[in-house]
Amino acid sequence: MTEKAPLKLPLKNGAPAGSEGDADPPCDAARSRNMAAIHSRGTSPELFIRRLLFKRGFRYRVTPRKPCGHPDLYLARYRAVIFIHGCFWHRHAGCKLASTPSTRREFWNAKFARNVARDALVKETLLKEGYRYLVIWECTIRRMRKDGAFCAEVVDKIAAFIQGDTPELEL
Ligand SMILES: [Zn+2]
Repeated sequence: MTEKAPLKLPLKNGAPAGSEGDADPPCDAARSRNMAAIHSRGTSPELFIRRLLFKRGFRYRVTPRKPCGHPDLYLARYRAVIFIHGCFWHRHAGCKLASTPSTRREFWNAKFARNVARDALVKETLLKEGYRYLVIWECTIRRMRKDGAFCAEVVDKIAAFIQGDTPELEL
């Protein structure tokens, strides 16, 4: 069964569908299904962040099979994983992009609950395995695109996270 995304989709999130092979670890199967239903427009948030980090001299792997959860970026040298989360799909708390469609509320709420539970499981697993976990929210990236000073500030925070020893951070 195909689940249709709402018309105004805030963000295509995560890996380009199908770009990283077919086998998903168990904790990730549902995430990939979501991704397949979503289309990207313009420069993806992932690419936007990648370019900024590359310019800063960071090197990373993109949506590797490991670690768990196919992080959008993995910096092995720093044992750091970065997820770029769409506020809608990943239910950014208190964010205006994380609205609930007015029809089929039960369907959406169940779906969102699964997404949130899966994110929590992935995060827990990664932290337990000694990875450091960074989430960059879509709304942050939207603001970065419009506001150069804010963008520089966030990139500094990302760099500090990567090179530091904080286990987890959301931006
Ligand atoms: Zn948000």
